[in-house]
Amino acid sequence: MGILSSKLTAVKPSQTKAMTALAASLRAQGRSIITLSQGEPDFETPANIKQAAIAAIEAGHTKYTAVAGIDALRQAIVTKFQRENGLNFTAEQITVGCGAKQLLFNALVASLDEGDEVVFATPCWVSYPEMIKLAGGIPIAMATHIDDGFILQPDMLRKALTPCTKWLMLNSPSNPTGAVYTRKDLEALAEVLRDYPDVWVLSDDIYEHLVYGDAEFATLAAVAPDLAPRTLTVNGVSKAYAMTGWRVGYAAGPLELIKAMNTVQGQSTSHTSSISQFAAVEALLGDQGFLVDFRRAFQARRDLVVGLLNAIPGLECRTPDGAFYVFVACQELLDSKTPNGQHLETDMDLAMYLLEEAGVAIVPGSGFLADGFIRISYAASEDELTKACAAISEAVQKLS
Ligand code: PLP
Repeated sequence: MGILSSKLTAVKPSQTKAMTALAASLRAQGRSIITLSQGEPDFETPANIKQAAIAAIEAGHTKYTAVAGIDALRQAIVTKFQRENGLNFTAEQITVGCGAKQLLFNALVASLDEGDEVVFATPCWVSYPEMIKLAGGIPIAMATHIDDGFILQPDMLRKALTPCTKWLMLNSPSNPTGAVYTRKDLEALAEVLRDYPDVWVLSDDIYEHLVYGDAEFATLAAVAPDLAPRTLTVNGVSKAYAMTGWRVGYAAGPLELIKAMNTVQGQSTSHTSSISQFAAVEALLGDQGFLVDFRRAFQARRDLVVGLLNAIPGLECRTPDGAFYVFVACQELLDSKTPNGQHLETDMDLAMYLLEEAGVAIVPGSGFLADGFIRISYAASEDELTKACAAISEAVQKLS
């Protein structure tokens, strides 16, 4: 009998983290590498938020907190949902954890029995299928099409739902495609869900503040209030407030589920750092002005990168409405040969070639359950993005 659980043998490590680690090791060997594989804003955490953390340390807020989070933060989250989403929760309906990632995991562990199915649209965030498996569930992917802007269509959802479906996981703006679900898209999905009263919805809104141009963020519990009693809304401060390392995410939903998630967390991590929680209060209640600046900077980078990438023969991408990724079709480059005779068969081969030849770390689409694509994060400076696209272009031109 081996040491590893059979559950774990089916779980894959994150390709995003693997590519980023590979880039870091090449850099440690002296190679110059531009990392566009990471889902992380390159901005500094705003100074008022850092100051709130320093003040928390100096005030002695360095001890265990309540499992669900400090009262001040849960109250700030209640305010945030009212202010930005028109959603009314009590503080008891809120739980705080180590990033949105942990809240998603807690929800799945708290709710899934062996054999329960969880449906989600692909391309999807690398962690969804793996978390579902770790929690004992069965991941069911629904492949969306580039022609639909990678938006899940109601008939696709209807086909995927079975008596075993426990959850639909939604993610808008989407990692990796940047697709943003409109109110109308969500209303159409809600219409299907009304026929399936036992299916719950997990709305992963972590990229809420990163929408561009005319696109508007919408969330299911607000669009379809009749579904709110079976919707868990997950969000956090990582992406909007440039606070990835602080590890603060939160979830709001029906009390019974929130209590069960608190039980899971109470027997695992207990809670996220007390200091980070005080910083998150400032993030949510303090000056929100820099969100506009971050959004403007990301939109300019998006436009830059989409233009540069679409000028490279063999690569093609749509202009995403949200998040900070472009999802680039690279099928035309597969089946080509590198200067030293290597055959590029998969998007993974192409990603490795671009790392070696161009010194640019990106993530293959297969990691997001979408072969024939690569994901490029534009959470980097315009200078780095310009250099990276030029290097990719040069490397692609060497293929035959
Ligand atoms: N959900 C999606 C779709 C993500 O892309 C990420 C991070 O990459 C997360 C959730 C988790 O964010 P965090 O745990 O940093 O709050």
